[in-house]
Amino acid sequence: MTEDTAIDVLICGAGAAGLTLAIDLARRGVSFRLIEKMDDPFRGSRGKGIQPRTLEVFEDLGIVDKIAASGGYYPQQREYHDDGSVKDAALVEACEPIPSEPYGTPLLVPQFLTEKTMRERLVELGHAPEFGCALVAFEQDGQGVTARLASGGEEQTIRARYLVGTDGGRSFVRQTLAVGFPGKTLGVRAIVADVTLTGLSRDVWHRFNEGSMETQISFCPLTETGFFQLQGPVPLEGEIDLSAEGLTTLTAERTGRADIFIQSVSWASAFNMNARLADSYRVGRIFLAGDAAHTHPPTGGQGLNTSVQDAYNLGWKLAAVLSGAPETLLDSYEEERRPIAASMLGLAVRLLEDMKRGDLRRGREVRQLDIGYPGSSLSLEEPQRQARVLAGNRAPDALLKGAAGQPVRLFDLFKGSHWTLLEFEVERVAIHPRKGLHIYRISQGGDLIDSENRFSDTYEATPGDRILIRPDGYVGAIVSQRETAALETYLHDVGLRTGPAARG
Ligand SMILES: Cc1cc2nc3c(=O)[nH]c(=O)nc-3n(C[C@H](O)[C@H](O)[C@H](O)COP(=O)(O)OP(=O)(O)OC[C@H]3O[C@@H](n4cnc5c(N)ncnc54)[C@H](O)[C@@H]3O)c2cc1C
Repeated sequence: MTEDTAIDVLICGAGAAGLTLAIDLARRGVSFRLIEKMDDPFRGSRGKGIQPRTLEVFEDLGIVDKIAASGGYYPQQREYHDDGSVKDAALVEACEPIPSEPYGTPLLVPQFLTEKTMRERLVELGHAPEFGCALVAFEQDGQGVTARLASGGEEQTIRARYLVGTDGGRSFVRQTLAVGFPGKTLGVRAIVADVTLTGLSRDVWHRFNEGSMETQISFCPLTETGFFQLQGPVPLEGEIDLSAEGLTTLTAERTGRADIFIQSVSWASAFNMNARLADSYRVGRIFLAGDAAHTHPPTGGQGLNTSVQDAYNLGWKLAAVLSGAPETLLDSYEEERRPIAASMLGLAVRLLEDMKRGDLRRGREVRQLDIGYPGSSLSLEEPQRQARVLAGNRAPDALLKGAAGQPVRLFDLFKGSHWTLLEFEVERVAIHPRKGLHIYRISQGGDLIDSENRFSDTYEATPGDRILIRPDGYVGAIVSQRETAALETYLHDVGLRTGPAARG
């Protein structure tokens, strides 16, 4: 059966990347289908570290409080030494929130709870993943993609303007497109399992034989669940017994303790670590995002975060192009996100080497707050500046006062699907209002008052600066009031047009 009416976007795979894209498209009113070949939601805790930048994304998507409530902070890790001594230390450095960075410390949330919260948000927006529905074939032409879906023993052919493969490391979409996935197998195989157990306390992350790739094993309590996440390297070849009995035996062999009993295993997997990056993120009307585009070792907790942020980068661009912005806007997705994945792979592999030496510590580099796109074709600076915040950087938060004297956070102004223009003590020619752009004048007598210089200090703004914030919270342009024409052109090129035909 063929459905004649084309949807805008077919999203293949309802993991963290697919769900993020679906939420973003749903709140923008884009028509889409989110299909998932599994019959039920994924049950594993695997990608459990949520980095501060992802928490900012989750704030914008309206789920940060629910995500935080379903997890907690990383516990201290307890290293057990051969001589019977133990040492407690922080694996993740705690950072107090500051006004420009409201989320300082990564959170620990099992992946199945993160995805559950995302699905609930999607329901609030009137959508849901279609479980038990697999993409089995597709082809594209100049106008769209024809896709064959298999569900409940039946097949259906549909048309979509775009297809996004968020279908994980073995991506069917990537393989069908014959996009290369070069990289290396890292020669490390590991198990990860969600277990209930007796014999260990739930206040610390228990780590035995750190630095030994033969005998290392760790047990991380998963807050708000009764589970521990068990992790450890295993031999490259051979069957691994992932039953409760098998894991109890493995635990006894590695810890030398006979008092730790695995009672149940709710999910378990043995996997080979790879570091691979897709040659291309876009082929015509088809995109790759998340693990479909990059796969990496779990060290550093970057995978899920990078996947969420891929989708967050792509969502607003797809919506803009579907509303009339130039197609070339979509080229900036690969231009911006592929280099980020390349450096994240480098970081994860470096941390894997640290782990092999028993010296794994995670600092600021894993928090993803310094990720940006300064070299992007979407970053405009007129004139060029030397400051902490440049075009392409993440737009920091700051606390100002509204004209009525009320406290106003920039992040509250950014929240939603629009662009935001902050005009700092601008006196000259106004920027024309247009759909999809919120404009705030920051000055005495303006819409916002920077009475304590928090905005001007954080952004190093000088009077006459216009700072344009993209829908995904990055600085698109910083332009002095003398360069109004350059800003008008930029706005036009990203689809923010004036006049009756304007579409936002
Ligand atoms: C064993 C393991 C341990 C990990 N540990 C960590 C960790 O500690 N920290 C961390 O940050 N990350 C970790 N990761 C990585 C993290 O889980 C991933 O980065 C994250 O799940 C990526 O999300 P995604 O949505 O891109 O892909 P996935 O979560 O893989 O989702 C892809 C979805 O697409 C579906 N699908 C596939 N083909 C089709 C099709 N043809 N039709 C319809 N649906 C399809 C799949 O069923 C799946 O549900 C780990 C990964 C693995 C495998």
